Amino acid sequence: MTEPSTRVAIVTGAARGIGAAIATRQAADGRAVAVIDLDEQASAKTARAIEEAGGRAIAIGADVSDAAQVEAAVNRTAEELGAPTVLVNNAGVLRDNLLFKMSEDDWDTVLSVHLRGAFLMSRAAQKHMTEAKWGRIVNLSSTSALGNRGQVNYSAAKAGMQGFTKTLAIELGKFGVTANAIAPGFIVTDMTKATAERVGVSFEDFSKGAVAQIPVGRPGQPEDIASTASFLTSAESGFVSGQVIYVAGGPRD
Ligand code: NAP
Repeated sequence: MTEPSTRVAIVTGAARGIGAAIATRQAADGRAVAVIDLDEQASAKTARAIEEAGGRAIAIGADVSDAAQVEAAVNRTAEELGAPTVLVNNAGVLRDNLLFKMSEDDWDTVLSVHLRGAFLMSRAAQKHMTEAKWGRIVNLSSTSALGNRGQVNYSAAKAGMQGFTKTLAIELGKFGVTANAIAPGFIVTDMTKATAERVGVSFEDFSKGAVAQIPVGRPGQPEDIASTASFLTSAESGFVSGQVIYVAGGPRD
């Protein structure tokens, strides 16, 4: 099936980092973009940059783990831009700690933003996609899904994203909707900068250590993830569904 003329994408956690790069790339690909993040002012920065580059975007402040805010955000997108048929579940947080020191709050927050957030957003957006008989969902997993010291909550959430994605692919395929996951490796963003700070090393040293393990010999950039998302949300990717693409400068699974 060909892509419908109304092309509207929702990108969550798009105020900065990987989400901002994905939103910008979606706009460059010709989509009107709903930029969702916790703080509407922060979302507005990305939306403004898209408009200044000649694209179309709206900024929405919403917590993806809150069902009412998610419903309102998806409804506003449909009213102001048209039916969203592309969804990128990117919003994320870290609350790293070793298991014996991890609080229930830190467990719940991480599972809630990543997994409950992706569930609520996908449930709200799928009705527009199934009605249009076309849709693309991309979920952000991570190489941490394979296990990572100090991230029992995050790795569980990111492994969960993979099972969630495969089930979406099975349930929604007959409506022309695909679902895939991207599992980034080390990408230069505020999130990896915060990790360096937490473990008490300079970002330069932290980055050097990470790059030493990366076959292509460089750190990932948000644009590396945005270009992968661009393919997975394109019309040409319609026979690719339920996959996890490791974008890590080498094989990580
Ligand atoms: P980032 O720079 O920390 O950006 C994440 C964005 O998500 C922030 O703008 C944050 O808003 C927003 N957010 C957090 N909780 C939210 C909520 N409940 N509702 C809506 N928005 C929320 O992170 P990033 O590095 O770009 O990561 C993006 C995604 O890629 C995440 O899912 C992350 O787990 C994944 N990932 C990243 C890497 C990496 O190396 N960077 C590797 C693998 C996977 P606030 O600023 O207000 O908190």
